[in-house]
Amino acid sequence: MAFASSTRSAYKEGPPTVSNPVIVAIDGPSGTGKSSTSKAVAARLGLSYLDTGAQYRAMTWWMLSNGVDVDDSAAVATAAEKPVIISGTDPSGPSITVDGVDASGPIRTQEVTGAVSSVSAVPEVRTRLVELQRSAASGAPAGIVVEGRDIGTTVLPDATLKIFLTASPEARAARRGGELTAAGNTVDLAATQAALVRRDAADSGRKTSPLTKAEDAVEVDTSDLTLDQVIDRIVALIGEKRDAS
Ligand code: C5P
Repeated sequence: MAFASSTRSAYKEGPPTVSNPVIVAIDGPSGTGKSSTSKAVAARLGLSYLDTGAQYRAMTWWMLSNGVDVDDSAAVATAAEKPVIISGTDPSGPSITVDGVDASGPIRTQEVTGAVSSVSAVPEVRTRLVELQRSAASGAPAGIVVEGRDIGTTVLPDATLKIFLTASPEARAARRGGELTAAGNTVDLAATQAALVRRDAADSGRKTSPLTKAEDAVEVDTSDLTLDQVIDRIVALIGEKRDAS
């Protein structure tokens, strides 16, 4: 499928202004291109950007670093108030610190990736992070692109535009494998695909705010699209929403 939409012309009225903020929710499973797409859409439109997955990873990294058993939901719940997590929302250089320490590297380790679904299933963790996410959205001067799993359903149900990104398991594993290879890892694609599918099952099956498409979200299958095509499509949809409002 190809998108023929003309992005810049669809966005007739220029970038959003302080009086007319744009809130874009981008949800979907891992490996669908959420982060690259969300950052690029935000940069193109002069919006802020928030990676909520990074916040769940930061919470998980803190638990692991402080000896909290991530499979003990009561222990995780009790500790959830403790870490001070601060996200920088510039799409050209998003940052995340935990207790003042740069966490952008450590939150991407396999250890954190393997533990994050358990930690993010704990309601107290979600309550804490959803509060941070809503406060980032309401404080963004021109508006914000927020990516995650439950942004359109739970965090920002009144978003201007909700996107649900999907892709085949093969396309997702290939993308994730490419990222891991670029980071210097040796990659077994079948194992990468199995790990992605396992994490999705945990994220979709949890009780609190599972990964799911909001009823009013636009689904975009990125399997056969280039990154630029996905970005163009979303920017065009934002333009349509703004023209209609
Ligand atoms: O997006 P990323 O793969 O970095 O997310 C890591 C994990 O954080 C997900 O697998 C999920 O368990 C959790 N997450 C979540 N809700 C969000 C964003 C991420 O539960 N809004």
